[in-house]
Amino acid sequence: MTNPNSSSCFFAQAMESFERAATLMQLHPRIRLELQEPDCEHAFYLTVDMEDRLVPLSEAEAKPYAALPVSSFPSLQNLETLGDLSLVLPPQALRQANVSMKDGHLRLSDGKVYRWQAGAPRRFRAFRVQHNQVRGPYKGGLRFHPEANLDVFKALAAEMTWKTAIADVPFGGGKGGVEVDPCLLSRKELEALALRYVYVAKPFLGPEFDIPAPDVGTDASMMATMLRQYSDGEPFRHLQRGFITGKDTRIGGSEGRTQATGLGVVYCIEDYYAEKNDSIQGKTFIVQGFGNVGTYAAEYMHQRGGRLLAVGDVGGYIFHPEGIDVPKLLEFMRKNPKGKMATVADFKEARPISKEDFWKVKADILITAALGGEITTEVARALNIKLMAEGANGSSTPEGDRILLERGIEVIPDIIANAGGVVTSYYEWVQNRNMEFWSEAEVFRRLAETLKRNYRIIRDIARNTPQKGEMHDSRKFCIGQTMDTRCAAMVLALRRIEAHYVLEGFSQ
Ligand code: NAD
Repeated sequence: MTNPNSSSCFFAQAMESFERAATLMQLHPRIRLELQEPDCEHAFYLTVDMEDRLVPLSEAEAKPYAALPVSSFPSLQNLETLGDLSLVLPPQALRQANVSMKDGHLRLSDGKVYRWQAGAPRRFRAFRVQHNQVRGPYKGGLRFHPEANLDVFKALAAEMTWKTAIADVPFGGGKGGVEVDPCLLSRKELEALALRYVYVAKPFLGPEFDIPAPDVGTDASMMATMLRQYSDGEPFRHLQRGFITGKDTRIGGSEGRTQATGLGVVYCIEDYYAEKNDSIQGKTFIVQGFGNVGTYAAEYMHQRGGRLLAVGDVGGYIFHPEGIDVPKLLEFMRKNPKGKMATVADFKEARPISKEDFWKVKADILITAALGGEITTEVARALNIKLMAEGANGSSTPEGDRILLERGIEVIPDIIANAGGVVTSYYEWVQNRNMEFWSEAEVFRRLAETLKRNYRIIRDIARNTPQKGEMHDSRKFCIGQTMDTRCAAMVLALRRIEAHYVLEGFSQ
């Protein structure tokens, strides 16, 4: 099995459907060359001052310190705990402290022995890949992840080029981030890293040139500080607000952005059934991943009469033959009983099942909303569904994809199904530029129209049925032969990109 998240050929694998579509539509060789590699790959280093930490020792390591008395930090209850259970020790924690140390070790009131690790500067590898800007400024998220590397960012940046073209928003594709495990950094260190990223990358970012957004390991609060780092001291600072998207609505973020990706998945499913004079009402579905995308997708499916039979996340999977009570499950998850560790597996009004059994649950629809590469050959063979809507990027491996096709399981590919996020990011950028604020209803109306229109064009390309409908016109995009939906989505992207090279030509 290939692991698309760590394999050095992730980019090559991700480009497979590009190559397939480019061959099928006989894309001009020079345009093909332009798109096969990014315009620019930035790899750089960031240094950050790390804070002092108390690192817990294992029982065996702690033995020599058995006689150490307990040290007391009156402000200890406020200390930040990191993913490896280290405690961050800001200088103010030492006020009124009563500390007994031996060789840099001390014992806390929890009985554990800790090694005092003095803060020191640390260096991180950072990246920004700018894949293509023929249709508009580079656009794509910033990922802070331990397995972040150039290969992954090349693939993700290219995917943004296709996604923005498919959604017909005037952006190109970019992606970047830092090789770091954010769970092992304090809030202050993470903020410093985010600020340093913008400080170093500022010459090649900007609201008219390359527009970042949150991705895995980054969030709206980081977007806020990055905006400040980018725009502070600039004349016309207010005009720089579109430098970054995914901001809090109070500082220029768009209404509806948080729900947009999950809702976009549901708009596509809705349109899939609408074409068959059918609806989501009464359909059964299962969801893998219950974070931002999975929760909103489940909520909007439920609102339309869908019945959730099984759901799973990193903590485990649950099943209810009559349907899981979605509002109750959402309430349970949003109360967040275990903070970052909250999992659907702890929801008691459904029974636990194994991951293997989750894939076998008989349902109309599977919504993927966890990591990529989950639909392997074995999983694709086990699935008992009719339609897969890819909330997650790169849900299936190429082999898994072939099996889905052979088995006649329909796929709403990621590049249209989860494009709701980037479309709403575009709305945020437009609102920032024009100093406007759109209501949530306005954002959702535009989003539904955009996703459904483009999904209809993709279906027409796949079936080779060029037509002008009420909402869409696929006549410019069909290529005279049928193909699978994933390939059709790529053909749509390439047709839109190709138009710029064909009509504008190449600067020499
Ligand atoms: P998230 O971090 O909010 O949620 C991820 C969920 O996946 C969590 O419930 C987590 O427990 C689960 N998960 C992680 N590893 C798992 C595993 N091995 N098995 C089962 N479950 C696992 O992330 P998100 O923003 O909801 O993104 C989910 C997917 O959607 C990702 O693939 C992301 O790239 C894609 N996506 C998200 C957006 C967006 O706007 N959030 C946009 C486009 C694509």
